[in-house]
Amino acid sequence: MKIIVPIKRVVDFNVKVRVKADQSGIELANVKMSMNPFCEIAVEEAVRLKEKGIATEIVVVSVGPTQAQETLRTALAMGADRAILVQTDVNVEPLAVAKILKAIAAKETPGMIILGKQAIDGDNNQTGQMLAALLGWGQATFASKLEKVGDQINVTREIDGGLETLSLKMPCIVTTDLRLNEPRYASLPNIMKAKQKPLAMMAPADLGVDVTPRVVTLKVNEPAKRKAGIKVKDVAELVAKLKTEAKVI
Ligand code: AMP
Repeated sequence: MKIIVPIKRVVDFNVKVRVKADQSGIELANVKMSMNPFCEIAVEEAVRLKEKGIATEIVVVSVGPTQAQETLRTALAMGADRAILVQTDVNVEPLAVAKILKAIAAKETPGMIILGKQAIDGDNNQTGQMLAALLGWGQATFASKLEKVGDQINVTREIDGGLETLSLKMPCIVTTDLRLNEPRYASLPNIMKAKQKPLAMMAPADLGVDVTPRVVTLKVNEPAKRKAGIKVKDVAELVAKLKTEAKVI
């Protein structure tokens, strides 16, 4: 079975993002970029399925700027076999990403597509669901455990108040939650080997997809600054302040 893993290059999760002076978006100049953490979990899961002999080939796909090649190379160093970059400098919205992935799925005929549950830049949590709808495939979102049972895939999902297990026919869509696995670090020899692995480049137009944005960002704001706290001398002062200043009791 072939697995496709779509991965997004985003601002590294350790970076404190800054809003641009004109409030049109986030400052990206000289900011460390990395693979979206949920996509790393998706790559790790695909590699584990290959190690278990369930997957035969892992193809990683990114839609983004030329620099996303680095992100794809990281996935190749983790154990993916081949990469595709759909190169564009447009900030591609989830529906257009899903249309691109649908076109790639038609060419590659994978048994499963594993995506992150969300990209930590836009927090959209849309692409996997839209892709499942466009392809007409079954989907299991927010996976915390994945098992192949016969010719079905069983996916455990964390839901309010418990766990839910779904059984999916292949081909199917799975999106990863945080507890699915802990992604490996690529070793130096594997980083070197990844440089030789195939990376194909194409454009959205080659797949017949128009990536022109449909949504306009009006304004991006910093969160309101928190006021500094104060220390009180005793419980009596605390109760007095809660009554007279905070007015919560
Ligand atoms: P989102 O719907 O934007 O929160 O993203 C959910 C998941 O869709 C990500 O974790 C990726 O697996 C995939 N995805 C979103 N945008 C892209 C992109 N530009 N290139 C490749 N995969 C993407």
